[in-house]
Amino acid sequence: EQVSFYSYNLLCGKAEELRRYLVDSIVSGNKLFVVTLNSQIFLRAQQIPDYDEALRHATFHLPDGSGVVWAVKRHCNVVTDRVPGIDTMLYLCEEAKNRGWKVYLLGARPDVVNRAAENLRNKGVNIVGYHHGYFEDQTPAEEIEKLKPDLLFVGMGAPRQELWIYQHMQLPFKLAMGVGGSFDVIAG
Ligand code: UDP
Repeated sequence: EQVSFYSYNLLCGKAEELRRYLVDSIVSGNKLFVVTLNSQIFLRAQQIPDYDEALRHATFHLPDGSGVVWAVKRHCNVVTDRVPGIDTMLYLCEEAKNRGWKVYLLGARPDVVNRAAENLRNKGVNIVGYHHGYFEDQTPAEEIEKLKPDLLFVGMGAPRQELWIYQHMQLPFKLAMGVGGSFDVIAG
């Protein structure tokens, strides 16, 4: 079920249905910009108009935070599971492994993203490239253009990650999703 939540297209329902819908959308070839909506992102968007603008252009949002789950019940009378971004990322990595999708990681400190890539590769995920999230002038966009990943995970925190995705929608990916501090978790 798609709910218009403050002009954001929020997907609501059972976690398993939401994940299946996400994978079906990737397979159907639509280019996806996915936001894992939580209170922190939501509040940032109220303060930064450009950020709000980027979030409005996301293909859809997933209810990452319990505050969002509560608010959508309260204001839209819709019940949804909470689907944390890290879980969604790991689920998509598993699908990527089984379907031969190429994955690129962008974000976090150099040593962290390096270890996250290594850990995912050890699980059989095809990480075709990665780059830390503290670049200024030199941009990883060119490399991503060449590598054509199917999944592009961007872990640079809010608002930077979604602003970056919105500005790089022309890059060849099937899905781009901001994942906050997930690389730190996966790096261990
Ligand atoms: N980060 C980054 N570039 C930046 C700022 C942050 O790559 O310019 C990374 C940071 O190293 C961490 C991730 O973004 O891995 C998430 O940061 P934070 O915990 O602030 O975001 P949250 O998870 O709360 O969205």
